[in-house]
Amino acid sequence: MIEMQSVYKTYPNGVTALNGIDVHIEQGEFVYVVGPSGAGKSTFTRLMFREEKPTKGTVLVNGVNLSSLKERKIPKLRRQIGVVYQDFRLLPRLSVYENIAFALEVIEESPKNIKKRVMEVLDQVRLKNKARFIPDELSGGEQQRVSIARAIVNHPKLLIADEPTGNLDPDTSWEIMSILEEINAAGTTVVMATHSKDIVDKMRKRVIAIEDGLVARDEHRGEYGYEA
Ligand code: ADP
Ligand code: ADP
Repeated sequence: MIEMQSVYKTYPNGVTALNGIDVHIEQGEFVYVVGPSGAGKSTFTRLMFREEKPTKGTVLVNGVNLSSLKERKIPKLRRQIGVVYQDFRLLPRLSVYENIAFALEVIEESPKNIKKRVMEVLDQVRLKNKARFIPDELSGGEQQRVSIARAIVNHPKLLIADEPTGNLDPDTSWEIMSILEEINAAGTTVVMATHSKDIVDKMRKRVIAIEDGLVARDEHRGEYGYEA
């Protein structure tokens, strides 16, 4: 599903974020990406949906070489990959329903199908009763559940989450984790960058540790491996 071969990333300012990454992730895996701040975790995940391009090396997602992907094909790629951020990134003036429907309106789904699918994903994140609320009326955990619903509404094969629980208290974080686990159990590959030792050590999934732009560890049923 994801294949990186000798991937390097140097930003225009001269900072080298990734220094030769080789990683293979299978369809259906759940992978934690850990490591110190500035190690290259975000860059690593941003390469997976062509938010960044590698300076050197190959990034394949679902057999598509992202390094040589034409600009006009990027929107289609992005629709096949769900992304969740630490700060939710919802549109503040739109309701929960509209925030999620948006992704389906751009591909010109029929209103009937849009309604059905939006209510389906709202059910999945247990927020059916909040469809008409705007983001400011929701707690942080609820906003993150909306952003997860938006990320999965197009049935992506890959869900990337960059510190999805970074702004949430422990109980709320566990709610988010149970939803991500359910999404993964239904077959979606999940790649999650996190600083939560608690979560990584309890869930015991694959752990890829990035340090100084290199894979320092890659373990099945791994642990966080740093002090909290
Ligand atoms: P992490 O997610 O592990 O904190 P990042 O991938 O965000 O690491 O950053 C790795 C390095 O690349 C850091 O030194 C960071 O300052 C730098 N960096 C990240 N994004 C950019 C950017 N858009 N332009 C320049 N430097 C960047
Ligand atoms: P948390 O304790 O998780 O931060 P809040 O105390 O922010 O949660 O919210 C508790 C409940 O009240 C949530 O279900 C949220 O949707 C609702 N709520 C919070 N603020 C508002 C508001 N301004 N208008 C309507 N409902 C709200």
